[in-house]
Amino acid sequence: MIIVNDLKKSYNDVQALNGLSFHAENGQITGLLGPNGAGKTTCLRSLYGLIKPDSGEATIDGTSATDDPLNVRRHIGIFPDKFGLYERLTPREHIAYIAELHGFKGATRDEAVEKTIQDLGMADIADRRTQGFSQGQRMKVALAQAIVHQPKNLILDEPSRGLDVMSTRILRELMFGLREQGRCILFSSHVMQEVAALCDRVVIMVKGQVVADDTPQALCELTQQASFEDAFVQLIGTDEGIMA
Ligand code: ADP
Repeated sequence: MIIVNDLKKSYNDVQALNGLSFHAENGQITGLLGPNGAGKTTCLRSLYGLIKPDSGEATIDGTSATDDPLNVRRHIGIFPDKFGLYERLTPREHIAYIAELHGFKGATRDEAVEKTIQDLGMADIADRRTQGFSQGQRMKVALAQAIVHQPKNLILDEPSRGLDVMSTRILRELMFGLREQGRCILFSSHVMQEVAALCDRVVIMVKGQVVADDTPQALCELTQQASFEDAFVQLIGTDEGIMA
């Protein structure tokens, strides 16, 4: 479970986070949605411990990302935005390498790797060199690397950016599978259709603050809009909507 409590962060004159607070629950997909510049990336980087906020705190399964970033990384998987692979290595070797970085060795490592391969349904490609892999296959390897240490929480920053339709569908199915396992999934996006299709809950942020936090359906009802996109535009204010 991820708890963000009153985070503030400024870069010189820009207040990127301005008292941001929300929860992301286990067994749910939570979308962090907002126009460009709303502070989504700054928020996620604070969760990884890459940025130290000026004040406030983020905790992941009770561990403070602000005070104990190394420990917190055991509890989170981070899905990268680029899938850099070594063409001569197989997916199994890629996943094993990351498992070793997490301190897994010998049979424990091999079991963790095998479980991940099974969980992501990638046994058919596990022992082929990654040279020539499709985008969807590359994405699976990247996701496998993010979850091989069985983190309870998965964080994805604009995961479908640059992905083709098939890869986006595969990623969506994988995220649903991880939700079924009770994990907490938090992802940022500015793509309305993706958020409406994927999220159990949406946290809408503008200028570093939460302006709405509910299910996509409840936000449509609240704003009396039929489409989630229209609800979003209304919630963030028209000027911001044009920028989104
Ligand atoms: P989002 O991911 O929602 O687009 P960001 O977190 O990237 O938003 O940015 C929030 C605000 O902080 C923006 O105004 C952005 O220009 C500013 N910002 C982000 N990172 C930096 C940085 N390293 N230096 C200066 N300003 C930054």
